[in-house]
Amino acid sequence: MQYVSTRGGFGPVSAAEAIKRGIAPDGGLFVPNKPVTIPAEDIIAMTGMTYHQRAAYLLEHFLTDFSSDEIRECVDKAYSPNSFDTPEIAPVKKLNESTFILELWHGPTCAFKDMALQILPHLLRKATDKTGEQDGILILVATSGDTGKAALEGFKDVPGTKIIVFYPDQGVSEVQKRQMATQEGNNVAVFAVRGNFDDAQTGVKAIFTDPEINSRLQQYHYKFSSANSINWGRLVPQIVYYFSAYAGLLARGEIVFGDKINFVVPTGNFGNILAAYYARKMGLPVQRLICAANANNVLTDFIRTGTYDKNRPFHKTLSPSMDILVSSNLERLLYEITGHDTDRIRQWMEALKSKGRYEVDQAAKSEIQSIFWSDWAGDEDTLAMIKQTYQEYRYVLDTHTAVGKAVYNRYRRETGDTAKTVIASTASPFKFNLSVARALLGEQNIKGHSEFALLEKLSEYTGWPVPQGLKDLDKKPVRHNKVVAREEMAQAVLEAVRQTVNS
Ligand SMILES: *Cc1c(COP(=O)(O)O)cnc(C)c1O
Repeated sequence: MQYVSTRGGFGPVSAAEAIKRGIAPDGGLFVPNKPVTIPAEDIIAMTGMTYHQRAAYLLEHFLTDFSSDEIRECVDKAYSPNSFDTPEIAPVKKLNESTFILELWHGPTCAFKDMALQILPHLLRKATDKTGEQDGILILVATSGDTGKAALEGFKDVPGTKIIVFYPDQGVSEVQKRQMATQEGNNVAVFAVRGNFDDAQTGVKAIFTDPEINSRLQQYHYKFSSANSINWGRLVPQIVYYFSAYAGLLARGEIVFGDKINFVVPTGNFGNILAAYYARKMGLPVQRLICAANANNVLTDFIRTGTYDKNRPFHKTLSPSMDILVSSNLERLLYEITGHDTDRIRQWMEALKSKGRYEVDQAAKSEIQSIFWSDWAGDEDTLAMIKQTYQEYRYVLDTHTAVGKAVYNRYRRETGDTAKTVIASTASPFKFNLSVARALLGEQNIKGHSEFALLEKLSEYTGWPVPQGLKDLDKKPVRHNKVVAREEMAQAVLEAVRQTVNS
């Protein structure tokens, strides 16, 4: 198996090379150059496997330049009992006869990003060894919250790597800020940037391509790399939990092999749902992929009309990890849907860059609509869904998963489809506890309480324990408290590298 660029200008290269590079030099994303098909008997065999065994089995099909031992080592390090609070790793909970929740937040940072970011650093380390890379890897991240903390936890103390995270001073929740400010590890640095997420993101992008900073970095024997969600090393581990969910339902007798199920995915950058698409393409019996958006409903419009148009107001919502107007991973779907028509993809991506919009042809649109269905839910619906789901099932949804549930309810009403359906739950409700507490306890009962106090209140009310990663956060020592201006970010990077190299 080798990897090529969605824009046709690079490759084929090995999986190791694709993971090390993150993005192809022609601006495209790496995609496998051959389809992978998983035979029915292997899916059935997964019912008797642990999550680790399922992961190793599936990763071997894509990372063919990694040995079985190497893959197993990465999987075991990533999904270890020190990091995940359940041996099931991604358990499936039952709400009713046809609705299930796939909990993807049992990792250290309580959001689904851990599923990929716990393993990516290990894959990346092996990838640099395989490609003969002598330099260390420096990961730079601009984060609006979840990714930064998940990347820090994944890369902390991984030999041969360093990680520096920038978050907007005013743009993250108290809990998220404290999660990053208390980060442990000898190869990490965290900075708040004065400004919003765009300032942090623009700053990081400029540093990546600044020749002077790159040559200074070379003197320390380090090279930039990226942990963001376009890296194939983040996508491939996400395919695993869709197979795992299906095998789990089979094992419990909820379905028999061949029954087609739906997956509902709360979507932002189109990474998580793209992994579900690949699983379907590989032979997993999946009927519909339901793409749930919030008020930033650019994907809903795209799936319904075939026109992607980011020229629209940006909304700050209660599901902030889905507040995205350019869903980068969609480019991979277009590559597959068009039968690898790299010329057209290049045209569409050029139009997106210059005009902020593109329109796919009728054939591509029909193909997309035969697989995907999409709608969106606003903040009020989100809060109402958290409350209603708790009242009906005593199950606590976070805001992102609540968007998924609201959209699924609408899907059922509009289509009448009663097939068994798995909703991907992308965050622990405690991670977004301010909104969840507002929905369940009411405005008057949360007034005057800090986010940390609300963790306890929410736990008392629901009987759900506060996850380890969020417990006693306000008592942990703050290790990172520097605030920098946008213009000071480059200097901060060099300073942080210098300090950790000498320490
Ligand atoms: C990142 C994230 C999402 C969106 O996932 P994509 O792969 O970007 O579509 C949804 N919910 C939560 C909690 C997230 O952290």
